[in-house]
Amino acid sequence: MASGFIDKARITVRAGNGGNGAVAFHREKYVAAGGPDGGDGGQGGSIIVQVDDNMSTLMDFRYKRKYVAGNGMDGQGGRRTGKDGESLTIKVPRGTLIRDAETGEIIQDMSGSEPFVLCKGGRGGWGNQHFATPTRQVPRFAKAGLPGQSHDVVLELKLLADVGLVGFPNVGKSTLLSVVSKAHPKIANYHFTTLYPNLGVVYVDEGVSFVMADIPGIIEGASEGAGLGHDFLRHIDRCRLLVHLVDVSGSEGRDPIEDFEAINAELKQYSGDLSSRPQIVVANKTDLLYDTEALDRFRAHVEQQGYEFFAMSAATHQGTRELVGRIGARLAELPPVVVYEPEYVPRPPQVDMSEPLNIVQEDGTWLVEGPWLQRLMANINFSDYESRMYFDRQLRASGLFDQLEAMGIQDGDIVSLYNLEFEYQH
Ligand code: GDP
Ligand code: MG
Repeated sequence: MASGFIDKARITVRAGNGGNGAVAFHREKYVAAGGPDGGDGGQGGSIIVQVDDNMSTLMDFRYKRKYVAGNGMDGQGGRRTGKDGESLTIKVPRGTLIRDAETGEIIQDMSGSEPFVLCKGGRGGWGNQHFATPTRQVPRFAKAGLPGQSHDVVLELKLLADVGLVGFPNVGKSTLLSVVSKAHPKIANYHFTTLYPNLGVVYVDEGVSFVMADIPGIIEGASEGAGLGHDFLRHIDRCRLLVHLVDVSGSEGRDPIEDFEAINAELKQYSGDLSSRPQIVVANKTDLLYDTEALDRFRAHVEQQGYEFFAMSAATHQGTRELVGRIGARLAELPPVVVYEPEYVPRPPQVDMSEPLNIVQEDGTWLVEGPWLQRLMANINFSDYESRMYFDRQLRASGLFDQLEAMGIQDGDIVSLYNLEFEYQH
């Protein structure tokens, strides 16, 4: 995009792998062979996403597209557990949607302040300290860690503001925001000055405030992609109320009614939903007005269409406090800002099960390993019944149990798959 404002980015994230369990035996002077004391592998670090209110664009993601959390360390002798991998926290502006890159489905709407775990780190493998049983006193095996989850996602910023300012460039949107809030948007007497959305908190009364967004100016034809506006309209998608500013001074030789209709047409073309969003129409720059007839005509036009009308001067602050009061009153009656529900349901991992698994038997325990099994297990949520059933079906379909039978497995033997062990029952 020409403007340098980045509000969409595709990134790849990968959680850390779990460390491997250790095979070790207790050693002491004058003691021949001690028990197994191999420690467990550390847990892989997770990918966590968190809102940062100091951020207003997704610019950082343009330069860095890969995010990888730390791997867990391998376990060691003396029951020492490997160090956990460090989690990686990715900061995003409030209102960022995380979407699955493939389907576009929403994984999470980062509107709240709760951190969100996007990818879980892999579990560490168990060391051989866990595998000693009366019949298996010298377990010479430990478990490999599981890989961390990974995901290609698209981040999309959809600002979270109660009020969106709309109107042609130069009508005074940035000026208004700077007057009623502590925001410092760029104000200049030429068109297209606003290239980044600016958010300001506006205080109405003690304990009552709202967030107002100044987005880059809509220009005619914007909804057809002719100018800046198109990309930016989606930033007001979530606004509960639009404040539509119109320059009524005639200082630029513009006609307020024409401008007002043109902007509404743009909104309508972008989405019908947006054009029916509650609007307060604000006639600005009344300080430059000599003849009030044009203003009266404009007011009549607006009110006839059922909109609330307001006249003020952002530059001289005349009427700005009253406008804030009116906005506050309207917001009190309107539903809260939309927060999107997650749509994405993790697909069962697709693995190619043709690769043979490695099966080893030791003292009645059947150790099964292999790359596809590792990948499958890393992506199965074992606390979810459906997922467990899916896992079971996959195992059966892979022919693993037939193979174990052929190799002579007995009822009551242990089947050991990475972080999962169960007693075999025919
Ligand atoms: P935006 O493009 O809609 O954000 O407009 P700006 O806030 O950047 O204002 C454009 C120009 O109009 C600047 O030179 C402002 O100083 C001027 N301006 C804004 N509001 C008023 C007003 O109420 N009266 C007068 N006289 N000038 C204003
Ligand atoms: Mg501006």
